[in-house]
Amino acid sequence: MHEPTAITATEEKSWQDLANCLGVDPDLFFPERGASTREAKEVCRGCVVQGECLEYALANGEKFGIWGGMSERERRRIRRQRALARAAAADAASATA
Ligand code: SF4
Repeated sequence: MHEPTAITATEEKSWQDLANCLGVDPDLFFPERGASTREAKEVCRGCVVQGECLEYALANGEKFGIWGGMSERERRRIRRQRALARAAAADAASATA
């Protein structure tokens, strides 16, 4: 996991212990602007806690780096899609109320 000090909860720590990026150069996950994210995503692809990692980053609004195999831009898109889905669900609920 590339930011272990940010997490203290036991439950969250358990998925970190299984992270495929343990011991991998953290710089790989925080590439310079415009640099390739391919190598980091390769590491994530083989990671058994990819889902947990992505949800952690989404829940904590991580703005930088590759988390759960996704770049900042890809995570922004997911957040937007989820917000739209929530709004649509709320609309549907109020329409039937
Ligand atoms: S998904 Fe990627 S960044 Fe997240 S723990 Fe796994 S290898 Fe590390």
